[in-house]
Amino acid sequence: MSTISKSDLYRRLPSLDELLRSEEFLALIAAQGRVSVVEASRAVLEQLRDEISAGRMEIAALDAAVSGMTALVKRELESIAAYSLRRVINATGVVLHTNLGRAPLSPSALAHVAEVAGGYSNLEFDLARGERGRRDEHAQRLFSQLFAREGVANSATLVVNNNAAAVLLALNTLADGGEVIVSRGELVEIGGSFRIPDVMSRSGAVLREVGTTNRTRVADYAEAINERTRLLLRVHRSNFEIVGFTEQPSLAELVELGRRHNIPVMEDLGSGALVALEQFGISDEPNVFASLRAGVALVTYSGDKLLGGPQAGMVSGEPALVARLRANPLFRALRVDKMCYAALEATLAAYLRQDYDAIPLVQMLAKPEQGIRLSCEALAAQLKNQPSLSVEVVPTRSVVGGGAAPGKTLPSFALAVLCAGLGAHELARRLRESSVPVIARVENDRVLFDLRTVQTADESSIYDALVTIAANGASASE
Ligand SMILES: *Cc1c(COP(=O)(O)O)cnc(C)c1O
Repeated sequence: MSTISKSDLYRRLPSLDELLRSEEFLALIAAQGRVSVVEASRAVLEQLRDEISAGRMEIAALDAAVSGMTALVKRELESIAAYSLRRVINATGVVLHTNLGRAPLSPSALAHVAEVAGGYSNLEFDLARGERGRRDEHAQRLFSQLFAREGVANSATLVVNNNAAAVLLALNTLADGGEVIVSRGELVEIGGSFRIPDVMSRSGAVLREVGTTNRTRVADYAEAINERTRLLLRVHRSNFEIVGFTEQPSLAELVELGRRHNIPVMEDLGSGALVALEQFGISDEPNVFASLRAGVALVTYSGDKLLGGPQAGMVSGEPALVARLRANPLFRALRVDKMCYAALEATLAAYLRQDYDAIPLVQMLAKPEQGIRLSCEALAAQLKNQPSLSVEVVPTRSVVGGGAAPGKTLPSFALAVLCAGLGAHELARRLRESSVPVIARVENDRVLFDLRTVQTADESSIYDALVTIAANGASASE
């Protein structure tokens, strides 16, 4: 083979013109367009020339590549057109995984989005009067109904892009140029650079810290109140816990203090649970209704955390305050689109019907651990005839995650898998490269698949991914 020079090899490559004239390429051009096919063919020829130039190309491999040019160009076309944003399977057991897109949407939410966004809609059109309407009316009615049912009679809700935007809008509207009192134990950072002090300064409000990291009393708030105080802010410690020698005033105490000085209390709940989470074994997680019933003037919360809907941020509470937020020009910059309203409306409708099974997030929290165990055992039985896989069903704990219920876990079961010749991290890497990427946890040198966060229809994709990796085995390892 050393008798063949590089220039001999280059000569075996077809020219672009030759390629484009072939029958197969004419068909490809008809299907994909000339410009794309020319670009992809150039790229493939370039890669082959680079291989030859680097001395990595032997004559047999080159001839194989040349006779398979159509397939190579097709693959290049596919990789150019591939979406960057892809569906993945979350086998981590972290129910609200911010990196994996938080709450999955329900089929009814998706159907409503498709119907509303696939054509024109009455997003800002009043059908009864035939004139311009307001987009914020859409979710409003369902929120009010839901709140009224839970004992919050007079409330309004505004929807913006996310909870960070809700906090920013509320602080800017109610406290720009004034002071906001916050406990030092609540100056939180939520992943992705949301820090209360930073949002506060951007809003134009001045942060007035009171108390200490572990203990803050209502008297600390009282002492800090002055003529510039606009708001008492309570922030939910959504991703950490302070345990031990701790103290925090109750919402009722804060509300009472605010009333005496005519200063509203706002609570950043982070995760807006609209169902009682105690029934799933999650305690001490604040609930939107309970805060408003306690007399908090405004609460802010995310749409895609425990609510189980689209990315959004809600401000709910006293109608007069919500109306002021709505009139702030920032609202225009932070507003949401028709797809968000559609998904939110369908999710809220499921809450109104008390059809919790229709909300994937709630359904995953509610999955009984024995049901998860049975799913794991069924998958393990299917994988039994794969000699290079060792599979065991083990108890584990799922995590609520996503800035909700810090430290709270749910009992679950997982499939623990080993593949002969592959380390656990290598197996996890190959799973991420599957046609539908599977994201799993590595624990004690095994790959764990917690099926709480895997939809039943996706269990076969995990099976397919494992069988494919087992078939390729260690031989394909780099
Ligand atoms: C998650 C969270 C936020 C940010 O909400 P996004 O919807 O992600 O913008 C703000 N505050 C608290 C307490 C949170 O938990």
